Amino acid sequence: MPSYKAPIRDLQFVYHELLEADRTLTALPGFEETSPDLVDAILEEGAKLFEQQIQPLNQSGDRQGCSFRNGEVATPDGFREAYRAYTEGGWCSLAVDPELGGQGLPETISFMLEEMLTSANVSFSLYPGLTRGAISAISSHASDELKARYLPKMVEGVWSGTMCLTESQAGTDLGLVRTKAEPREDGSYGVTGTKIFITGGEQDLTENIIHLVLARLPNAPPGVRGISLFLVPKLLPDDHNEPAHRNGVNCGSIEQKMGIKGSSTCVINFDNAQGFLIGPENRGLACMFTMMNAERLAIGIQGLGLSEVAYQNAVAYARERLQSRAATGSAAPELSADPLMVHPDIRRMLLTARAYNEGARALAVWTAINIDLSHRHPDIGGRTQAEDLVALITPVIKAFFSDFGYETTTLCQQVLGGHGYIREWGMEQFVRDARIAQIYEGTNGVQALDLVRRKLFIHGGRLPRRFFQLLTEFAEQQRDNLPLQPYIRPFIEALNLLQELTEWLVQQGATDPNQLGAAATDYLRIFALTTFAWMWVRMVAVSQDKQAGGDERFYRAKIQTGRFFLGRLLPQIQGLNLAIRSGSELMMAMPEADF
Ligand SMILES: Cc1cc2nc3c(=O)[nH]c(=O)nc-3n(C[C@H](O)[C@H](O)[C@H](O)COP(=O)(O)OP(=O)(O)OC[C@H]3O[C@@H](n4cnc5c(N)ncnc54)[C@H](O)[C@@H]3O)c2cc1C
Repeated sequence: MPSYKAPIRDLQFVYHELLEADRTLTALPGFEETSPDLVDAILEEGAKLFEQQIQPLNQSGDRQGCSFRNGEVATPDGFREAYRAYTEGGWCSLAVDPELGGQGLPETISFMLEEMLTSANVSFSLYPGLTRGAISAISSHASDELKARYLPKMVEGVWSGTMCLTESQAGTDLGLVRTKAEPREDGSYGVTGTKIFITGGEQDLTENIIHLVLARLPNAPPGVRGISLFLVPKLLPDDHNEPAHRNGVNCGSIEQKMGIKGSSTCVINFDNAQGFLIGPENRGLACMFTMMNAERLAIGIQGLGLSEVAYQNAVAYARERLQSRAATGSAAPELSADPLMVHPDIRRMLLTARAYNEGARALAVWTAINIDLSHRHPDIGGRTQAEDLVALITPVIKAFFSDFGYETTTLCQQVLGGHGYIREWGMEQFVRDARIAQIYEGTNGVQALDLVRRKLFIHGGRLPRRFFQLLTEFAEQQRDNLPLQPYIRPFIEALNLLQELTEWLVQQGATDPNQLGAAATDYLRIFALTTFAWMWVRMVAVSQDKQAGGDERFYRAKIQTGRFFLGRLLPQIQGLNLAIRSGSELMMAMPEADF
């Protein structure tokens, strides 16, 4: 049976010491009271609930899965009680505006809790996670009347939210959506169509389900410019806002799938269901992007969460399991063999997971701070700068965190040898659960295209310019920091490589339309590894400063893991750079018939 202990010390390091979030966030209006003690207390309380009540349902939830009968879905045993504890503890509304009934805490805190929740039980995390995304889309774009009617119960967690984009013929290409919305005399719309793969589309955790649905108005222009967004409740509320009347919304079936079996994945049929327009007509995709961007970051965090819990269990195993002797001679002669931990290949796998996890945790919290700055910085310039950075990094977090999450859960499974393949140990579930994050919420291939085709170019290339400037300034500030030089050198080399490659790609893209698509996935990985290197050098710098002041083991391990990242993982960028520069012709030259 796998176990999980929330990495509170590391989260505290990232929040208080590395990124000095206390100073940045308490300077923002509304966050003045977010003291270090309050942050620590919230992390510890959250960890208790996730470790003690939600994590123990992870394996049983996987075995039992969701079930479907007569249009209704039952979540696995224990999910209802755990969901009640989650909502009653106020965990749904942590970062929601107090005017909407939330607690008004920084998003940054919510991000840290999300990592823990996904480590504990990624299937469970999806139910409140999608509701949070739906709340942000409704509060940003819906009328005051809709907000007043729907948000309070969603914020409380007694009603949930979903995201209904996908149809059988419309996946990545949402321009192909066919669901229709016919205007009614009372100002609402009749929504008709079938959505597939809808996470939490039906479940038994909440009193009502509020679907956010992409659909077309009559005579809407073709493609993505003709899509509008509608709020379609499963049950229509009465005058007292109690769910009273059944709307034309039904669950047709649920999917049997590889992982996240405790999360229901539903076919949802809308049959002239009453819906309400959110935002302007034909601008639905732009409004939905408020939700999709939040979800993309949350999906990236799933990769980190699963990699962390897999790492913890692999380390425990590598300490206990005795096989063979160390190459340098017996490490534990009193035992029949040495623990796995003595073998370099085992350490390679464990350190790979650890170096990605800690780099990702730092980058996730840095991004969350920028989200808070983008909402609350007193100057428009400060808000725009933060918005640019978040926009640039969102596809990187979604794709790279989920890619490494799948790679490292597999490596950690490998540490257990044959036992890793056996259900009881829980490692194979982490691998299965990690796989979906590379696919849903826009496949990772599509995230990479978003980075190279859109984010590099919008606002005249302002996003990468700002980002590279930030990294260059950091390198310059550290020029006289002698102990940091062995760490900063590989980082500067990576930054130069990335900047030169970016220029090359932008030029090539102008003449060869396939070049950007051919480079995209590898380019995103170089981007991510360089960004992780930046985080790692910063972590090493702080650890070097603090090492003498206590908690020596923690800082020593941090520096050692940083050395591993810069020496063993960062060099991947050299091979990827060469691969990209071999050009698109290697992919496009082969005639289709030869495949
Ligand atoms: C468990 C699960 C839960 C889900 N939850 C939800 C949900 O809650 N709400 C919702 O609306 N949807 C949901 N989805 C749907 C999910 O977001 C889509 O499956 C995903 O976006 C990909 O769409 P598709 O499956 O149609 O693949 P396709 O779009 O057919 O893509 C197939 C392949 O082609 C590639 N591809 C497509 N277009 C391009 C292009 N232009 N350039 C290069 N490559 C391209 C893709 O990267 C992919 O590798 C869920 C799916 C699953 C499996």
